[in-house]
Amino acid sequence: MTSDPNHLMELPRKILIGNDVIYQLGSFIRDLNDKTSLVAVISGNTVKARVGKECVEALDSSSLKHKWIETPNASMNDINSSQSLVRKEQPNFIVGVGGGRSVDVAKMISFNLNIPFISVPTSASHDGISSPFVSIRGRDKPYSLKAHAPIGVIADTKLISEAPYRLQASGCGDLIGKITAVKDWELARDDNNEYFGSYAANLANMSAKIIIENSSKLFYRANIRTIVEALISAGVASCIAGSSRPCSGSEHLFSHALEYVAKTNCGLHGERVGIGTIMMSKIHGLDHDVIIKTLQNIKAPTTAKEIDVTEDQIIQSLLIAQSLRPERYTILNKIKMDKGSAREIAKSVSVI
Ligand SMILES: [Zn+2]
Repeated sequence: MTSDPNHLMELPRKILIGNDVIYQLGSFIRDLNDKTSLVAVISGNTVKARVGKECVEALDSSSLKHKWIETPNASMNDINSSQSLVRKEQPNFIVGVGGGRSVDVAKMISFNLNIPFISVPTSASHDGISSPFVSIRGRDKPYSLKAHAPIGVIADTKLISEAPYRLQASGCGDLIGKITAVKDWELARDDNNEYFGSYAANLANMSAKIIIENSSKLFYRANIRTIVEALISAGVASCIAGSSRPCSGSEHLFSHALEYVAKTNCGLHGERVGIGTIMMSKIHGLDHDVIIKTLQNIKAPTTAKEIDVTEDQIIQSLLIAQSLRPERYTILNKIKMDKGSAREIAKSVSVI
């Protein structure tokens, strides 16, 4: 029998999607808590230059005072220095504005200081938009930590569609990864008696399927809303599962390993996940051609060369992926891998 422990589902309370909804930031916050006097906004400097004016206008029009905090990286140092600034201000909300890192920093600080967090993504590059998970640099093992889900999400599709196309394609790569993540979760249920939630698994799978089915159209940006909704749904699937299981399996372990092995210049998160999904679907015995085709349709990388990493780095990452997080049971636990077989896997799907 599968174990069925209690777990907490923490979900975003309000999600606003549409063109120009950034201008509703102030009223959105007022609706969440009418007694709000001060909000801390966390973003990188590029994002501040891009949307700072709009955010400030929206906050001013609802008579909300704000303190803007700039963060260059989602490193431990960044979090610590931004966190002391936020603690001093004691805001009612923390608003994380950005493509990924600033949202992660804001989410982590919100968790540490127990101040509710609002996620304002400026690109559709990964599913952290609505999930309770944070990926932070500067720790010895690169994978995600659990924080709180955002209380609100404002996804301005106009703003997001103006971000570089590469970020959107990377978001699709992160979504395609749900195919192998869910397969790994099923394995953990069958082999390890781990809790498995069908609803969360189906929700995550659906967000990958919608990308696969629409991939020939997605390149033309017409469907930015589909991508944003799929990313939000995948994050919500994690909220429902109470863990990152439906969204992160062996393909994510590979991505984290590659980041660890290559250090810098190894593509974006979703690009690595997409390439990881090609190889993990091969190991799972799934149709890897459909994964490659989908990634090619959306102009996402499918080879090591396209993300500037070497054959050896791919092989090394395959070899250490599972050891980064031994307790997360995946298909990599089921196979014996050495340099030769790792090379064979990567070659068989033309990653190297
Ligand atoms: Zn991811």
